[in-house]
Amino acid sequence: MDHFQLRDGILHAEDVPLPAIAEEYGTPVYVYSRATLVRHARVFRNALSGLKDPHIAFAVKANPNLAVLRVLANEGYGADVVSGGELTRALAAGMKPEDIVFSGVGKTHAELQQGLESGIGQFNIESEEEGYELAAIARRFGKRAACALRVNPDVDARTHEKISTGKRENKFGVPFDRAQEIYAALAEEDGVDMRGIAVHIGSQLADLTPLEAAFEKVGSLIDSLRASGCQVTHADLGGGLGVPYKAGEQLPAPAEYGEMVARVTRDWDVQLMFEPGRVIAGNAGVLLTRVIRVKRGIERPFVVVDAAMNDLARPAMYGAWHDFDAVEPTGEKAISHIVGPICETGDTFAMDRECDVLVAGDLAIFRTAGAYGATMASSYNSRGFVAEVLVDGDKHAVVADRIAAGAIMDAERVPDWLEG
Ligand SMILES: *Cc1c(COP(=O)(O)O)cnc(C)c1O
Repeated sequence: MDHFQLRDGILHAEDVPLPAIAEEYGTPVYVYSRATLVRHARVFRNALSGLKDPHIAFAVKANPNLAVLRVLANEGYGADVVSGGELTRALAAGMKPEDIVFSGVGKTHAELQQGLESGIGQFNIESEEEGYELAAIARRFGKRAACALRVNPDVDARTHEKISTGKRENKFGVPFDRAQEIYAALAEEDGVDMRGIAVHIGSQLADLTPLEAAFEKVGSLIDSLRASGCQVTHADLGGGLGVPYKAGEQLPAPAEYGEMVARVTRDWDVQLMFEPGRVIAGNAGVLLTRVIRVKRGIERPFVVVDAAMNDLARPAMYGAWHDFDAVEPTGEKAISHIVGPICETGDTFAMDRECDVLVAGDLAIFRTAGAYGATMASSYNSRGFVAEVLVDGDKHAVVADRIAAGAIMDAERVPDWLEG
């Protein structure tokens, strides 16, 4: 459930009519609902209530906006970060260092050092090479870094191939067959405290079966590690729970996920950790856009909107579906193509979509844009960076300024030696 609903024929974000947002901040603009974020954070936490003291770290890459992170920090969430930049943000948003987990296959020397200096709670090590490098840095600092070893369980998450991460050919984690050997070797190092196993097999999972298969493998690995004398006190089960992108679409509920986790991990005797991203933020945001014009096509009209693939990349990147609704629907429907202004055929949000009839100047939203939306924006076609607004009841505020194309150009230089 989210808080982007019609009231008296006009779409609102909580108590704020979307035309008022467009008027004040311009379009395109991302609009987030605090009440929806809080609701999702609580639903997910409640789904895990059968577990002993689970640790929840929001996957910052899904929506790294400082205000969004602050809302989640206030809900007691930690952060799962994948770069030094995300670590800096999570701390700036008020997340406690000990609640931060650092994931990613390519943490640089400087990033490992930043994590140690910040006193983060856990590094999810993705290779033996990274483990030895971290151990060496930690020894130099006279520290011991708490670590989980991310394993690649070789499970097909049955999601889009570009967001599948747990198959053997994917770059993530260490091969399952070598995990025990690598864990045992790293456990001998002074600089690292090997305390657990981490797994994350992909995103937008529409089925719990692959997750369960991956968790079963983690369970058997924990048994073998303990049998060989290694300590295992933590297990990080990653994120990946899908969200409905189409009205009426059925996905596993967080409660079903929680029950499955409770059943599979019953005898593990570890502190469980989770890294949800999309399921918290996805339906807590929309991209508000204005129709530039409606262009007659051969079979269907092209509805040309002022948002484009540089603002919302998912349709161009993954062929993703976002529901598209008029802010003031007349009740009339038509089949149209929904496109942005960018000079790429890929800048198409939908083909042959039955949706509300729109004319030039009308407002509309792309729903479920709160995760992997603004964070993937670029300035392609010199369009500047999209703004972000947070709504809370009848309050609203810009939480990321629009960065004009001119400001981006100001960072560019023409060297003297090019002058004629
Ligand atoms: C992307 C990512 C997540 C979050 O995935 P969602 O599908 O958004 O829940 C969690 N953990 C890791 C390591 C990730 O890379």
